[in-house]
Parts: sequence; C-alpha cells; structure tokens
Amino acid sequence: MSTASEALAAFTAAYGTEPAGLWAAPGRVNLIGEHTDYNDGFVLPFALPQRTVAAVGPSPDGTWSVSSTLAPEPVTFGVTEPGEVTGWGAYVAGVVWALRDAGFEPPAVRIAIASEVPLGSGLSSSAALESAVLTALIDLGGLDVPLERRPAIAQRAENLYVGAPTGILDQSASIRCEAGRALFLDCRSYAIEQIPFDLAAAGLAILVINSNAPHQHVDGEYGARRKSCEESAAILGVPALRDVGVDELPAALDRLGDDVLRKRTRHIVTENQRVLDTVALLRAGKVREIGPLLTASHDSMRDDFEITVAQVDVAVQAALAAGAYGARMTGGGFGGCVLALIDADRAEVTADAVAAAYTEHGFTAPTSWVAVAGPGAGKI
Ligand code: ADP
Ligand code: MG
Repeated sequence: MSTASEALAAFTAAYGTEPAGLWAAPGRVNLIGEHTDYNDGFVLPFALPQRTVAAVGPSPDGTWSVSSTLAPEPVTFGVTEPGEVTGWGAYVAGVVWALRDAGFEPPAVRIAIASEVPLGSGLSSSAALESAVLTALIDLGGLDVPLERRPAIAQRAENLYVGAPTGILDQSASIRCEAGRALFLDCRSYAIEQIPFDLAAAGLAILVINSNAPHQHVDGEYGARRKSCEESAAILGVPALRDVGVDELPAALDRLGDDVLRKRTRHIVTENQRVLDTVALLRAGKVREIGPLLTASHDSMRDDFEITVAQVDVAVQAALAAGAYGARMTGGGFGGCVLALIDADRAEVTADAVAAAYTEHGFTAPTSWVAVAGPGAGKI
C-alpha cells in the first residue's frame, strides 16, 4: 500500500469519515554543510522521494486530533502552550502553536499520519511531519503564509514546543526543495538558490546508506556542539562563525586557546567554504568533481567536529574503496546515514561492499538505496 493510501485508511479508521485532502512533505539528505545552519552558514540539502503524508479533515468540535500509523490512538488537544502536549503529538501541537504565535489562525482539524521516512536516522522525519501538517493547515485555513516564512514557523515548533534545539536546515529542505535540484540555502538571510542536480544526466547517483546504528547521546552532544560554536564566536567577537572566512581561519585559531574550540571552529569555517565550492562546481556542471569535497567534509566531521561513529566511518571507507568519488555522513551525527557519490551502475556493488564491511566488523546490517531529488511539501 502506498503511503498516501495508508494515511487515507488510517484517517478513516481513526475518525470514521473521509479527509478533506492529503498533504505530503519529504525527508531530506544534506549533500554538504553539516552543523553550519545554526552558525548562520550555508547548507545544500535535497528532498528525498520518501515522504510523510498527512490526511486532514475538519474537526467537529474546535479541537485538534492527530493519529499516526505508528501510534493509532489519536492525541487530542485544544489551544495549548509548550509543554502541554508531550510525546510525538508535540510536533503537531507545536505547529498549531507556532502558527498562532506568528499571528495566524490555523483551522481545527483531525489528522492521520503515515510515513516512509525512517525515524531517527538523520533523514529528518520530524521536519517531514511538521512540514506536512503546516502545509495542510495553511492550505485548509486559506492562511497567507509566504513560502519563505514557513520553515522558521516549523522550526519554532520543534525548538520551542518540542524542545529540540535544531537549526533551520531540515524544515527548509522539506518545504522549499524542488525535484531535480539541490537547495542552496543561506541560513542567515534565508536566501535560496535552486541548484540543478541531475545526477542521472551525468551518469552518476547518490547512494544513501542507513548505518542503522543506534543513536546515542544525540541531544546532549548536539547541544554541546552548539555551545562550543557560540563560545568561539563570542571569543572571536563575531555574531556567528559564518563571519569567519577560511582566509581568516589561522588568525582565528590563534585567538582560541582551547583545543576543542579550535577544532569545532575549523570544522564550521572549512565546511561553509566546502558548501560554496560544491555549489560552484554544480553550477559549472562538474558533478563528479564534488566528490573530494564530500570526503573532506566527512574527515572534518570525524576529526574536528567529532560527531561520527564507527559505523559511519566504516561505511565511508568501504564506499570509497569500492570506487565512490566521495562519501560522507549526512545529518546531525552519532549514527544516521552516509551518502556516496558513485557511477550510476555501481549502486549494487557499493552497497554490497559496505554490507560486507559491516559483517566483518560485526555491525547490524546497513540499508542502502539510490536517492533521487524529489519535490518539497505540498497537497497531493
Ligand atoms: P529525525 O528527524 O532524524 O528522523 P528526530 O528525533 O528529529 O529524528 O525525530 C523523530 C521523532 O519525530 C520521532 O521520535 C517521533 O516523535 C516524531 N515522528 C516523526 N515521524 C513520525 C510519524 N510518522 N509518526 C509519529 N511520530 C513521528
Ligand atoms: Mg529531526
């Protein structure tokens, strides 16, 4: 059954009636630019074909209800403040709250969710959920919320209602990505550029490898990385690490006495430059040439930002040994997925090589697939 059919069936099962419509929002992979979003820097995600579908219809009594195929018993709430709805329903209550907080009046609705985005794998199922619900509320309520404002509303739901201190990357990708393109986003100005990303035309593919490694200490480590970046920016006297260019890096590192702060800063500054270099190559149609930048990004995440785990390092090494042009972990870290830039006809061979390396190391088997850049959130 397709995800849309599942959402439809879940709606009927939960509420005994038909929804007014179906809205979908995708998960994403970040091609390059990791942990740069909350440093006011640059990111380059593309949307996955895997998406979260929300079947949505009017509510009879002015409350909001939401059920998921993963949690079929509906969660029901009225107008709430952060903290009142907890658990997974907080992502939805958060979107309602954030819309109201931004001065909009979202309609009371009943929602059923189905998703094919793996949860907690760094492919951003949380943003897919928020973006599907947000888009449905905006459409059904006829709310005049311009596309460029929407990611920040969904992000506020996650930051202030759910309480996860994430940057703007995930929601921007889920809402603003376009099929066949990567989204070059400036996380300070929210300016975007849709970058042509037609891998098939270049005879190439992106293999996504889910390490299936259990996420450990993710929230605490993420918060610690953010704090180090803020501390470094304060010492350097800049609003954010985005304001340090690679040419200024040696002098900046001299001023940061602490070795950990130096490493964190070096990752952010060089990673921003790698995004800019990747965009320049893609604009010039030099897709294969971005490979070394991807691998350099991984090395930087492993050695300087220290957010990789053995499973992702092994996947990168195995993919490169199998002939990938470049490979890196994608997503916040401590597990999650790896992407590898490969010749289009090398997907199976590369996936097999990674799986063999996992067997050798005694890791849980990985899951791999070829990712094609899909569309952003919308009614289906
Ligand atoms: P990621 O965004 O990388 O997948 P997160 O921890 O940010 O991981 O978000 C995962 C959380 O989002 C889940 O624990 C759950 O609370 C919520 N979520 C996402 N998709 C669904 C869904 N289809 N049904 C219920 N909850 C979901
Ligand atoms: Mg998330």
